[in-house]
Amino acid sequence: MPVCWLISEEGMHKPIQLPHWHAVVLGRGPETTIKDKKCSRQQVELKAECNKGYVKVKQLGSNPTSVDSVEIGKSNEVKMKPGQLLHMVNELYAYTVHFKEDLSGEQRGVKRPRESVPVNKETSSQTASPVTTKKYDKEKSGQTDCHTQASKNDVSKRLSILFQRGFGHWNQGLKVSMQDPKLQIYKDETVVVIKDKYPKARFHWLVLPWQSIVHLKSLRKEHCDLLRHMQKIGEQMVLQCPDSDSLRFRIGFHIIPAMSHLHLHVISQDFDSPYLKNKKHWNSFTTDYFIETKDVLKMLESDGRVSVKEGTSELLKLPLRCHICHRELSTIPALKEHLNVTL
Ligand code: AMP
Repeated sequence: MPVCWLISEEGMHKPIQLPHWHAVVLGRGPETTIKDKKCSRQQVELKAECNKGYVKVKQLGSNPTSVDSVEIGKSNEVKMKPGQLLHMVNELYAYTVHFKEDLSGEQRGVKRPRESVPVNKETSSQTASPVTTKKYDKEKSGQTDCHTQASKNDVSKRLSILFQRGFGHWNQGLKVSMQDPKLQIYKDETVVVIKDKYPKARFHWLVLPWQSIVHLKSLRKEHCDLLRHMQKIGEQMVLQCPDSDSLRFRIGFHIIPAMSHLHLHVISQDFDSPYLKNKKHWNSFTTDYFIETKDVLKMLESDGRVSVKEGTSELLKLPLRCHICHRELSTIPALKEHLNVTL
């Protein structure tokens, strides 16, 4: 039976093993290195069901524990699967769960697994062909945060160790890509720009801060300057684009990102790409699921944080609608055909 590991996405400590069907209570304390008083010493109870591939998460503390940004509620329990993101308290301290064969090889009869790198079909293949997959769902989640004590280098080092051990998850791909000099098309002291690996339009870049920030919900007022800088760099990318005269661009965030590490999309509005394969891809860029930087700034300035309205994920299920004339199309091929004529 696989062994379940709880991984700190910020690399705050070593993976914690969650034994099968055994309640593990975690919170503030040396095991997690969390010192935040808002986090109870007994914040969550985690019970892995290794044969079923999920972990039952029960919130014990009074401040909110969340899974994929949905608060569990005190004394409530939810199931969490690999690919989902647990925040121990107040959208901070990000964790994922991974099911692996026993890495120590100490357990009788269990072979040490081959060392492997991320499991995401898209992220694992440099030459990923645009075949139909249910990928978008697997892009889900958000990650590392600004509260981490570790330096950027320490975090990268720990992450790379985790990756080598086979803990790397598809939602970590951006953190790996952004560190790769071959993929960096612009960088300064604050941000780096890379091409989206699975561009959903002719031009699709991602602007990422070097600072370790999980996602939009981790942002606070003090990040406004960083956001303005990210936006400015995004606008510069558009200006240097050879087709910027003929193409319209939008610059913004997915309100519920799939991938870890804050990233700003700079995307041309042709959506002419074989990687744009399904309704979720389309709606994530053409509905309010896509939030422009100015709106994020407004929220931060007025409320000090970004809030996600209940039911936001339902936007991804809306019927396909042309973003220019708003005509409804029944399938992605029909939509693409329509765009071909319209644009
Ligand atoms: P989201 O998290 O929904 O804002 O979108 C994540 C974006 O990252 C998607 O547009 C993916 O195509 C893109 N992506 C996924 N993996 C990588 C990677 N390893 N390098 C660069 N872009 C990636």
